[in-house]
Amino acid sequence: MSQDQPRGEIVIDLDAIRHNVRRLREIAAPAAVLAVVKADGYGHGMVPVARAARAAGAEWIGVAVLEEALALRATGDRGPLLCWLATPGEPYDAAIEAAVDLTASSVWQLAEIAATAERLGARARLQLKVDTGLSRNGAPLEEWPELVTQAVRAQATGVVTVTGVWSHLACADEPDHPSVKVQEAAFVEALAVAEAAGLEPEVRHLANSPATLTRPSSHLDVVRCGLAVYGLTPVPQLSSAAELGLRPAMSVQSRLAAVKRVPPGSGVSYGHSYVTERETTLGLVPLGYADGVPRHVSNRAEVSVAGRRHRIAGRVCMDQFVVDLGDTDARPGDPVELFGAGGGDRPTAQDWAEAAGTISYEIVTGVRGRAIRRWVGADA
Ligand SMILES: *Cc1c(COP(=O)(O)O)cnc(C)c1O
Repeated sequence: MSQDQPRGEIVIDLDAIRHNVRRLREIAAPAAVLAVVKADGYGHGMVPVARAARAAGAEWIGVAVLEEALALRATGDRGPLLCWLATPGEPYDAAIEAAVDLTASSVWQLAEIAATAERLGARARLQLKVDTGLSRNGAPLEEWPELVTQAVRAQATGVVTVTGVWSHLACADEPDHPSVKVQEAAFVEALAVAEAAGLEPEVRHLANSPATLTRPSSHLDVVRCGLAVYGLTPVPQLSSAAELGLRPAMSVQSRLAAVKRVPPGSGVSYGHSYVTERETTLGLVPLGYADGVPRHVSNRAEVSVAGRRHRIAGRVCMDQFVVDLGDTDARPGDPVELFGAGGGDRPTAQDWAEAAGTISYEIVTGVRGRAIRRWVGADA
C-alpha cells in the first residue's frame, strides 16, 4: 500500500486536542484539568495526546492501568500522573519509583502498595477512591473509615503520601439525574471523614467530562476529562461538540476502491439487505468491521464523498462496505470521510454512535485494524 494514498487513514489533529484542553481549562478554572489518555488515548494515541494535553496546560494526566502509566513515563513524561485500576498482586515497584499516583480503592490494595514502598525504601504517592454510588471501583462507604485509618497509619510510617481523594459519577451525562446530587453529598461526607482523620490531600476530584461541562459544583480541585479532550460531546442530548466549543480530533479517511453503475433492483452486499430502488452509482469503501467499522451501522451510517453525505448500502463486511452514491460523479480513488470534525455535510463520531446505537466513546476507541494512524498539528 502506498503511504501517499493509503486505503484507510485515521488522522488525529493534535491542535484540536490542544484547543479542547484550553477550552476545558477555561470552563473548569480555578480547578486544574486531568486529561484522561487511557485506552491509547481513546484510540487517538496515548503518547502524542498526553504531550499535546500537557503543552496546552493539562496539569494532570490520567490512565486506567499501570502499563499505561509506565509506557507514558518511558517517553519522558514527568508530570503528575494518576492511575486507578489494579488487580491483586500487581507489580507496583516501577510505578512507585516513577512517582505515579496510585489509587487504593480498598484496604488490601493500600496494604499491597504500602508493602511494596516499604520494601523499596520509597514513599508511594497514593490517592484514595471512595464509591459514592457508582457501585464500580472505590471503597464502599462502610469500608471508607477503615481505608482512611490505614492510609493515615501508612503515611505516618513514611511509606505513602496521600495526595488525593476522589470518586466517580454514575449519571453525569444526565445532569438532572437525582443520583448526581446524592453522589456529590456523599463525597463531601467522605472528604470530611478523611480530613477529620488528619489527611490533607492536595487534590479532591469527582468530575468527568459531562460533569465538567454541566455541573460547576462538581469541579473541586481537578476535573478528569476524557471524551471532551478528544472534542466529542459527552451530553449529545443537550449540546453538540460545536455548541460546547470543542473540536473533534479524529477523522477516519479512505478512498473508493471501486465505483459501478447498477440497475434498479440490485441487491447489495451479503444478505441483500439493501436493494437499489433506481439506477444508481455504488462506491466501495475498503474498511470493514475488522477495522472498527461497526457492523451495526449497516444501512444506517453516512459517509462524506465529494462534500456530501451518502448512506451505507447493505451490510458492513469484514474488510469493506458499499455506499449508495446516487448520481454522484465518482471515480475509484476519490476520498471518503467516514467521520471527522463535522461541519458542512460531514458526519461525526457522534452521528456514527447514533447509527450504531452506542456512544461516541466506543466508536473512536474501536477504530483499529489496517488503517494507518497519522498525527497532524504542532505536537505531531
Ligand atoms: C474514563 C474515566 C474518566 C473520563 O471520563 P469521560 O467521560 O471520558 O470524561 C474519568 N474518570 C475515570 C475514573 C475514568 O475511568
